[in-house]
Amino acid sequence: MNAEIIAVGTELLLGQILNTNAQFLSVELSNLGIDVYFQTVVGDNQKRLEETLQTALKRADIVILTGGLGPTKDDLTKETIAQVLNLQLKLHQESLDKIKEFFAKMHRVMASNNEKQAFLPEGSIILPNNNGTAPGCIIEKDNNIVIMLPGPPKEMQPMFKEYVYPYLLKKSPYTIYSKVLRIFGIGESSLEEKLIDIFENQSNPTIAPYAKQGEVTLRITAKCESEEVAKGLIAPVEEQIRNRLGIMVYGIEEESLEEVTCKLLMEKNLTLATAESCTGGLLAEKITSTPGISKCFH
Ligand code: ATP
Ligand code: MG
Repeated sequence: MNAEIIAVGTELLLGQILNTNAQFLSVELSNLGIDVYFQTVVGDNQKRLEETLQTALKRADIVILTGGLGPTKDDLTKETIAQVLNLQLKLHQESLDKIKEFFAKMHRVMASNNEKQAFLPEGSIILPNNNGTAPGCIIEKDNNIVIMLPGPPKEMQPMFKEYVYPYLLKKSPYTIYSKVLRIFGIGESSLEEKLIDIFENQSNPTIAPYAKQGEVTLRITAKCESEEVAKGLIAPVEEQIRNRLGIMVYGIEEESLEEVTCKLLMEKNLTLATAESCTGGLLAEKITSTPGISKCFH
């Protein structure tokens, strides 16, 4: 399955805001094993949005639109979707009640144009907005899935996580499983040099390096029908990497350097002393954050 993301908003084209919605959605979709082939940005213009949507429907299974669900005249995403897909907008009473409730809770008077937000394409799966007014929706039409989400990230992200992610998870034939190796003592480019042949020969699992402060991580990601199969694909690649890098691979997943160091100290019954200048005790602070370390760090 593949997807296209359409971010709607003239502000985006003018550079006044950064398209973080596209980034968020791309990360989430890749975690679901859904390939994103195109990200498009289009202004608040009905004709151009229409064209953009029509193009996306031809080349993508899933089209996700964000933005332009507000109550004002320039918000025309929903109307355009309905027109392109030939669907009527119908009042969804539950959504209207929820919008009224939202305004009541904020002690604000609801403007009459907010009612417009409760009109949704007939036959769609409605996605409640628990952090704002505009509901989103999922439309299954012919061979496409069209998902409409609000623009503000504070509304869009929770709506995606709560309703869209589980929906897409059911649709996706793959499981995505990944393992992170944490590496210390080598920079990202030297690491790549050491592993270049492994990097180049992998398609499943894929390996992605990520330079962090003071360390590099490698994420090995497999995409297949079950977690068990994925683990089986990852294991030999991990072993190959570990053979090359040796003790530079100090941990996995969320383990931190200080955690691993402290674990080793405790296991080996060793003590550690630090003398710090300039750091104001930062090193000691990191070490003492590990439970039980006081027997090694006097
Ligand atoms: P509203 O009800 O607030 O009008 P909306 O669904 O109509 O919401 P827009 O009007 O397009 O969405 O955008 C509202 C705000 O949401 C923008 O000013 C911006 O802060 C944020 N936003 C919209 N699109 C994006 C995006 N692609 N990436 C990041 N932020 C965005
Ligand atoms: Mg708006």
